[in-house]
Amino acid sequence: MTNIGFIGLGNMGGPMAQNLVKAGFAVTAHDIVPQAVQKLAEAGATPAATTAETVKNADIVITMLPAGEHVETAYLGAGGILENAKPGALLIDCSTINAQTARQVAAAAKGKGFDMLDAPVSGGTAGAAAGTLTFIIGGDDAALERARPVLEKMGKNIMHAGKNGAGQVAKICNNMLLGVMMIGTAEALNMGAKNGLDPKTLSGIMAKSSGRNWALEVYNPMPGVMENVPAARGYEGGFGTDLMLKDLTLAQAAAEAGGAETPLGKAAREIYARHSADGHGKLDFSSIQKHFSGDA
Ligand code: NAD
Repeated sequence: MTNIGFIGLGNMGGPMAQNLVKAGFAVTAHDIVPQAVQKLAEAGATPAATTAETVKNADIVITMLPAGEHVETAYLGAGGILENAKPGALLIDCSTINAQTARQVAAAAKGKGFDMLDAPVSGGTAGAAAGTLTFIIGGDDAALERARPVLEKMGKNIMHAGKNGAGQVAKICNNMLLGVMMIGTAEALNMGAKNGLDPKTLSGIMAKSSGRNWALEVYNPMPGVMENVPAARGYEGGFGTDLMLKDLTLAQAAAEAGGAETPLGKAAREIYARHSADGHGKLDFSSIQKHFSGDA
């Protein structure tokens, strides 16, 4: 049986690790928050108190951590994954971090004989719970084929973007476009409303016209247009403003590293930073609507 060491059992990692337990893998689970470990133990995982204990018998190590500095410490730090993983283990980092850190950690892993993938995800906490995430992979074909049977238990789309770091770049391109699209959609709906249009009627018109897009049709930011979206429940749940701000900040780092012009990505980052500073960091990112409607 494949032994999996899973580190980082938060909003995403918790349900992802639970899906691996349900699929019959032997999962050893660790988080710095003991309650998160306890929850996984109740679901059938073996609890581990340290990173070293989590990885020492693992054939595959998966990390789902907040940001680049946590990933660096977990892999490269004293008592970390590279010091303690079983020879030949496959390492998969699912966190969203900057591509440069992903490449550095993968190079260090390779130097010690480990295959490594960056595998950030799209699909949010609902996708993590349902096992329907999209994995966006950076790394070698052979490593991806080793990972596939495990990734398939947590997601339904496994997309190969390119070499190490490419998964992070692709993820951040997508989320920059999403941020821009959400702002554009909120801006347009608000302009229509301020000129006397019903947002639901306007959304229906634009959905059949050339302005159609995911934010408008699947995740409408205006209350009263759709059911079962964050706008219908005071923007609770979903994908937080602060997480979008983090991704837009990573996008600006990628733009600078690649020498790319991203004026709309830059403006989107500034607008989300203001929205967060206005106290909406924990609300879903579609709450940017409030920024335009004036109830911010
Ligand atoms: P989270 O803060 O809920 O979970 C992160 C977990 O990592 C926490 O439980 C924390 O205690 C743990 N942790 C931190 N440092 C650790 C260490 N050194 N050792 C062990 N555990 C440690 O975050 P999340 O929402 O699960 O997001 C995780 C990653 O996934 C982030 O990079 C985020 O950008 C990305 N992501 C999140 C979503 C979402 O909707 N939440 C969607 C797609 C991608």
